[in-house]
Formats: sequence, structure tokens, C-alpha cells
Amino acid sequence: MTKVLLLVGDGMGDWPLDELGGKTPLEEADTPGMDFLAPISRVGLCQTIPENMPPGSDIANMTLLGYEPGRYHTGRGPIEAVAMGLETAEDDLVWRCNLVNVSDFSQSGTMLDYAAGHIGSREGAELMHGLQKELGSSEFSFHAGVQYRHILVQKKGLPGRAAGLDITPPHDLLDQSLAGDLEKYQGYPALWDLVRRAAEILQEGGNDTSARAIWPWGQGGPLRLPAFKHRYFLEGAVISAVDLVKGLGRAAGMRVVDVPGATGLLDTNYQGKLHAAKTFLETGDFVFVHLEAPDECGHMGSIRDKVEAISRFDQQIVWPLLEHLRGEDVIIITCCDHLTPIKIRTHARDPVPFLVYDSRQQASGPETFSEKEARSTGIFLEHGHDLLPFALNRKGDA
Ligand SMILES: [Zn+2]
Repeated sequence: MTKVLLLVGDGMGDWPLDELGGKTPLEEADTPGMDFLAPISRVGLCQTIPENMPPGSDIANMTLLGYEPGRYHTGRGPIEAVAMGLETAEDDLVWRCNLVNVSDFSQSGTMLDYAAGHIGSREGAELMHGLQKELGSSEFSFHAGVQYRHILVQKKGLPGRAAGLDITPPHDLLDQSLAGDLEKYQGYPALWDLVRRAAEILQEGGNDTSARAIWPWGQGGPLRLPAFKHRYFLEGAVISAVDLVKGLGRAAGMRVVDVPGATGLLDTNYQGKLHAAKTFLETGDFVFVHLEAPDECGHMGSIRDKVEAISRFDQQIVWPLLEHLRGEDVIIITCCDHLTPIKIRTHARDPVPFLVYDSRQQASGPETFSEKEARSTGIFLEHGHDLLPFALNRKGDA
């Protein structure tokens, strides 16, 4: 049975940088694995972010797993609820609920920190349990996640007006006014009452964290994905440090492999991820290995770290897996979910470069793997969810 590997460097793609003499971090990085594969692979660009959708990792990674976001994506909250193992009903409205720090929870207030000082999981959970005790009702319930990332479930919230509220993600609101979003919450009185009272409770004495308010956003109905196995006839697993990728994997009925020390940062446990992938492939057919670090470095605007993150992705994941599977029937896809250009320090919606190597069907590709080379081949997948079917030589999302 052919083994299929989808290896994702989150936010790896970029734009040319003057600081690198006009090269991108991917071109600058030392990537023997991808450079070995490129000339014998199909290399091109694919559009992972559909028109009219924001360039989020949740949407882009759903696309890469072969699910059309326009059809299956309901929100960020529902994906993370699945990652937490939370059971939800069909008419539940599921919100991502951040603990945040604000200058003042009023029209004149600003967002100081979307992560409440990167509050610890235990402190975060204690606050959520407190809020549940004080404010939990037949309509609203709080569910503790990790650190500042929690879930608010609104019973019978679907269909309803709250479902359509377009609340700004708190990480996009840094040092900006809360006024516009508070006005939106106020349009739904029960929700406004909840967030207002939560802020009061968090600002009372006894809370020595910097969590000063809750910020529900990214809401939607429960995430329901058709089983990956039935769709592709592959026994699959996801290996990632981040909740939303784990949530997507779980919702698709895939194995979710937890790797100790997988941090999502440059110092993540590459050996652990590599070992987990090899072990799963002893019996499984498909593995989705996700590395968050290039994205984090892009957000931080650190060129050197981003180049290093891409080099490690290649040298510690791509190359060893290639070596490990040498002589076997294997399909290897390397790509990123979206670009996180250093210049803008946030996600861009450009199509992403991909490489598809098939040991049974050698192709003629460019000399190296880069954004430019991927564009030069003329291979372009308009719908990113066709990438996996393209790699497998199967028909796409029916
Ligand atoms: Zn991403």
C-alpha cells in the first residue's frame, strides 16, 4: 500500500525580501529534501484560501485535508471545541472565547492583550470555572480549554442573529478601540449582558492574572466533516502542536497523535514528530505533519528565525521521512497552508507553492522548490481542496 505524506510548514511561503537580496526565506533556507524532490515532482501553486474567506490557518488547513471550506467551515470555535472533545448539539452556537486584557471594558477601552499575558492553563481554567458558576445558564456555558483559549456554547443559538455577528478576532485588535465590537455584542442583549458581567467579575479583587474580560468570537454551528477514511480510503493521522489542526483531524475521524514537547515554536520537538510519523506509518497510510514554527517567525517578523524554521522543517522532517521510506511506494506532498510574509507579519491570501512527489510516477519539475519556481511551472489548482485528490490522482470533493 502506498504511503502518503502531507508535510505542512505553516506560513512558510513569503515574498522576496531586500534583506535577503531579493530572495524569500524558502529560497534562503537550506532545504536538501525539497530540493532533491523538486526536479522529480509536480510543482505548482494552489489557492488554499477561497474567495470571500479570510486567510486563517483553520480554513487553509481544512483545505489541505481536502475539505472545501465554503461547505464545511463553520468557525474557529467549533474546530477547537472538537479538539477539546466537547460534544455539541446541532443547534448549538459554539464560540471561541478568549481571556483578554483590556484598558477598560467600555467604548473608550482598547485591547491590550489577546492572550491575557499568556495566562497559564490552570489559572485560565479556574477563571472559566468561576464564570461558569456565576454566569452559566440554560443558554450559555463556559468550557475551559488551554491558557487563554476557551469555548462558550450558546444552546439553541442556531439559527439566530448571534450567529451572524462579525466580531473582530482579538489578535487583530491590538491597541485598537473596543467600541465597534462592543456595539455588535450590544445588538444581542443576552450576549452583551454575559460579556459585561464577565468583565465585572474578572475585574473584581482576587483575580491576580491580567485577564480582564472575555472576548467571544469565531462562532458557528458544530463542525461535521465526512470521514477522511471513507473519502480517501486511507487510514490517516494528524501530528501537530496546535489545537485547530487536531480538531480538524478529530472531526475527520483521523488519529490525532499527541507529541510531548510539540510547542509550535522553533524549539519544537522535531524528533518526537518524526518518530510519531514513522510509528504511525507502520500500520497507517496517510500522515499530515504540521509545523507551526515558520508562521510564528513570520508573525514576529524575524527573517533569521523563519529561514531557520524552514531549514529545520526540511532537514528534520522532510529529509528523514524521505530516507525512511526510500524504496517504498510513497507520495510526498510538501506545502504551506498560507503565506505569512515577513513584510506584513500576518497571513496573506496568495496561492501557496506545493510539491507532489510520487515514487511510481516520476515527473519533471523545477531545479529547486520555491515560490518563484512553483509559479513558473504553470500548474495552478484554483481550489486548494483539490490538492490531495491531485496528488492521489483521484477526483476531488464530490
Ligand atoms: Zn497557518
